[in-house]
Amino acid sequence: MAWRCSGRTNADLIANMHTARIITTDRVKEAMTKVDRANYVMRKSEAYEDSPQPIGHGATISAPHMHAHAIEHLLDYLGPGKRVLDVGSGSGYLCAVLHHLVPGGIVVGIDHIPELVDWSRDNLRKDGLGPALDKGEIVMVTGDGRQGYSDLAPYDAIHVGAAAPTIPQQLVDQLKGPGRMFIPVGTFAQQIVQVDKDEKGNVTKKNLMGVMYVPLTDAKGQQRSY
Ligand code: SAH
Repeated sequence: MAWRCSGRTNADLIANMHTARIITTDRVKEAMTKVDRANYVMRKSEAYEDSPQPIGHGATISAPHMHAHAIEHLLDYLGPGKRVLDVGSGSGYLCAVLHHLVPGGIVVGIDHIPELVDWSRDNLRKDGLGPALDKGEIVMVTGDGRQGYSDLAPYDAIHVGAAAPTIPQQLVDQLKGPGRMFIPVGTFAQQIVQVDKDEKGNVTKKNLMGVMYVPLTDAKGQQRSY
């Protein structure tokens, strides 16, 4: 399943994920088609392969099928005027896709490696999203994502792109009710956990699938292991 969706072009890659039913909605297909993955990777010749790719500093851009799964699971909480937090924003790719799904809303990307945050801003500009950055519709910040980003909280949806040993309470606190978080949890064996908060603030958790993500850690630890 993982690698068979690779394409020769961005449109090919998205179409293959649609055919494989990894993308099941037109909204996700359209949003992902608008974002050229070549603007967010280092090895341009492998931009349209359905695989993760190193982006330096011990980080990787996730495989397209993982980005698609994440967005499909969060989709009910994305729409006009919605607010989204992407923890471990890395390349900025997912922030770009999320931006197209929340017209008039705000996407906040947070990463603890300042060089990656600068690079992600450059990537977003190359992808035509300079005006969105300038207007504050996309906000890229450097910081410890385990604490969320309280300045723009609460969020309708939170995506976490690195595996946490346990679910950080501050992220649950910054989730709106209703709201949904998609977060990989675990050290060796990792699971994607979908965390839902209802109107009354009740929180429920559901395991979605086994995965392999880089750890949600402290910046020094990440740089050391790299
Ligand atoms: N989703 C991104 C990056 C995934 S790699 C993409 O597809 O491009 C995971 C990212 O999480 C890395 O960029 C890493 O620097 C970041 N990260 C790890 N721990 C973090 C923390 N505590 N706070 C913020 N970012 C963190």
